[in-house]
Amino acid sequence: MNSHFRTLASFAPVACILLAAYFLVPRIADLPASLAGLRVHGAYIMLALGMLVSLAFRRGRVLFALLTLALAYVSHRMFLQEGLNSFPARTVFAALCIFVPLNLGVLSLLRERGTFNWHGLRRFAMILAQILFTAWLLYRGDSAIVDPFYVPLIDTKLLARVPLPQAGLAVIGLGLVTALAAWFARRSSVNLGFAGAIAAFAIAAANAAAHDAFAVFTAAGALILTIAVLQDTFYMAFRDELTALPSRRAMNESLAGLGKHYTLAMVDVDHFKNINDVYGHDTGDQVLKMVATQLAQTGGGGSAYRYGGEEFALLFPGKSMGSALPYLEALRKNIASYEMAMRGGDRSVQAQSGKKPGGGRSAGKIVSVTISIGVAQRNERLLTPEDVIQAADKALYRAKRGGRNRISR
Ligand code: GH3
Ligand code: MG
Ligand code: MG
Repeated sequence: MNSHFRTLASFAPVACILLAAYFLVPRIADLPASLAGLRVHGAYIMLALGMLVSLAFRRGRVLFALLTLALAYVSHRMFLQEGLNSFPARTVFAALCIFVPLNLGVLSLLRERGTFNWHGLRRFAMILAQILFTAWLLYRGDSAIVDPFYVPLIDTKLLARVPLPQAGLAVIGLGLVTALAAWFARRSSVNLGFAGAIAAFAIAAANAAAHDAFAVFTAAGALILTIAVLQDTFYMAFRDELTALPSRRAMNESLAGLGKHYTLAMVDVDHFKNINDVYGHDTGDQVLKMVATQLAQTGGGGSAYRYGGEEFALLFPGKSMGSALPYLEALRKNIASYEMAMRGGDRSVQAQSGKKPGGGRSAGKIVSVTISIGVAQRNERLLTPEDVIQAADKALYRAKRGGRNRISR
């Protein structure tokens, strides 16, 4: 339920910006004379701002997306001011309807690889090739090449009412689905930003005959991408990359904002060095991910954090130690009984015994680990978060000394 809500909430910035743009379009003509320049330059300002932010935060993908939107805006100003009926206007509009959603969709599939390097150069070359191709179409002046783009693919009344060529609509749809799928797979706000920018462009293009609408929705697209960069950066600062759990920094901020009643558990994987030594670092990483997944599912309102290395923390706001303990005990048992089947290899090991692997006969290797937990509750003696962390750490040390795979308080 919680995660569905969060998924839905992720759409909020995009939806708000598009809605604001919708309400702004009919009102922008009322701007006082001193601000009238914004009707043309507002979009440029938003695009430039977005590019600066992308450069500062090294989001090359977004920089190229903004470059695409900027080219679309410049093209609109150069070719589409007099309506869509002339050959140049039809040619440029066709190119925009294909290349803008295509670029944004493809960018959502690519990895972030910065700007000023070989990858950036290739991405730039792609955009340049699109400009040259469009220029060539304009130079040829052959409507036989451009007209097929405007032929309806399917004959339905519904699509006939959409003021976009169906081929363009198809690329827009495909780009949207691609960007949304990329967002679903990787949960990067930038990918959701690409989807939002495609939507903004589609609305702009559907209103291409009206300058204000095209400008406002281009600016909206730029703002959506800029906010996506900021959200992504925020996420990176507070999330651990390997496990996707909130980081130690996030935990410290949560602790600072808590009231007088909370319980903190420090969790440490037992003999984790053994896993790394025997199976290698990659398997170690997979074990950490498994442990993180189990921790994230802890009940009782506990939130999991990656404190560092193979150490995690669970924070129970408003909970006493007594009421958190059953959930911790369930977690400890779950992890101890979890058998991770690793591909390849033919050994099995019980990390908690500290034994070197024996010659198991099973095809894949089975890895299992245990955790030790130290718990502390905020009280009159343990006033500050640092006190509570220290007490939980001491309890963890006692759990280790007591034989591991146990909880101490
Ligand atoms: P104990 O039961 O006393 O906790 O023993 P331990 O081996 O778990 O403790 P120790 O602190 O000696 O070892 C922790 C190891 O965790 C050392 C380090 O190489 C490994 N480690 C820390 N972070 C990572 C990581 O992100 N990935 C992997 N694979 N290993 C990590
Ligand atoms: Mg350990
Ligand atoms: Mg440790």
